[in-house]
Amino acid sequence: MTDASAPITQDVMTIPRKLPEGGKINLVGLTRDQLRATLIEAGTPEKQAKMRLGQIWQWIYHWGVRDFDAMTNLSKDYRALLDEKFEIALPEVVTKQVSMDGTRKYLLRIKGGHEVEAVYIPEENRGTLCISSQVGCTLTCSFCHTGTQKLVRNLTPGEIVGQVMLARDDLGEWPEQGAPNENAPRLVSNVVLMGMGEPLYNFDNVRDAMQVVMDGEGISLSRRRITLSTSGVVPEIAKTAEEIGCLLAVSFHATTDEVRDKLVPINKRWNIETLLNTLRDYPRLSNSERITFEYVMLKDVNDTDEDARRLVKLIRGIPAKINLIPFNEWPGSPYTRSDWERIENFADIIYKAGYASPIRTPRGEDIMAACGQLKSETERGRKSRKDIAAEAGL
Ligand code: SAH
Ligand code: SF4
Repeated sequence: MTDASAPITQDVMTIPRKLPEGGKINLVGLTRDQLRATLIEAGTPEKQAKMRLGQIWQWIYHWGVRDFDAMTNLSKDYRALLDEKFEIALPEVVTKQVSMDGTRKYLLRIKGGHEVEAVYIPEENRGTLCISSQVGCTLTCSFCHTGTQKLVRNLTPGEIVGQVMLARDDLGEWPEQGAPNENAPRLVSNVVLMGMGEPLYNFDNVRDAMQVVMDGEGISLSRRRITLSTSGVVPEIAKTAEEIGCLLAVSFHATTDEVRDKLVPINKRWNIETLLNTLRDYPRLSNSERITFEYVMLKDVNDTDEDARRLVKLIRGIPAKINLIPFNEWPGSPYTRSDWERIENFADIIYKAGYASPIRTPRGEDIMAACGQLKSETERGRKSRKDIAAEAGL
């Protein structure tokens, strides 16, 4: 049985990356420090390392170049050396589905043959890319499709950054050298860590990946355009503010511990009060804007007027907005979506109490790309019903 609260440990990445036997080191996802050390290890003279790092970084993350031979400000010999030892590799796109509403869902294959999904959601003034942080999830939120899949492994920083890069590939977003499109509107303008997995149980890799994505000489997404969603891994929340500084969303979903224990079983470890106390410090620590409280609307489970009133009482004093998510059904899901009128009444109570309460329009439902529907069909590692019921105290 999985322990809902145990952090997932994985091999600590050493600096510099050692050359794998017979294989090439993937440069994607290395932080600046790691990349510099790795270049030196491969024979780059220390005195040149800073300059080479800057050049290669720009080729990879500003221009989107994958071929060392195209890095024309490097000598031929040096390009050959790079090509011999390194690669610039992204997860493989197995399938791409485009919804009637323009949402794009990518099924991606990563090392080991595992699969994860990423979803691009175009809107009028922005485009949001929803990325995954783990294959499967250790947690077992009872309304979430990913939660029925065992954790297979954490994604590496390269696999996380790679999702952003391949969406830019697909959308044709890399700037063209010499072309005046530097100021073109961004297609991937926002990134949300709301795909498969619990990002705070893969903290170091998510942090390193976001550092690469935020770097001003590359993809250059502002920290205010990145939102990390957590089910409430309390000990990692302050670290998120301090070491990433992005916006935070919390999967709240219930207003009593009794109900939250069932919906978001991590609540048994860190309950509503403990979570809220931690959240009160977040905006101050990260100098960020409001915290988003995600609240999935489940018919006859958490959607009464009384719930709405309790919710605004609970979060009093926290700069917040409440994002109401109509439940997205998946095969075998044990809940149904609240009626539209119920959702609107709920939203109204929250709005009148002074909080923005947008209702998240389900996007990409026809291709199972909506929140909580992600789960790679080819992964066979299902949790047993017994495990899920035990976690949820059902
Ligand atoms: N593990 C993280 C991030 C991934 S889930 C977390 O739990 O926050 C992203 C959001 O989708 C969360 O708020 C999650 O609770 C919500 N979600 C999961 N399953 C859903 C479903 N079936 N319908 C609607 N929202 C769902
Ligand atoms: Fe994991 Fe988030 Fe799904 Fe819960 S809602 S099972 S934490 S992915």
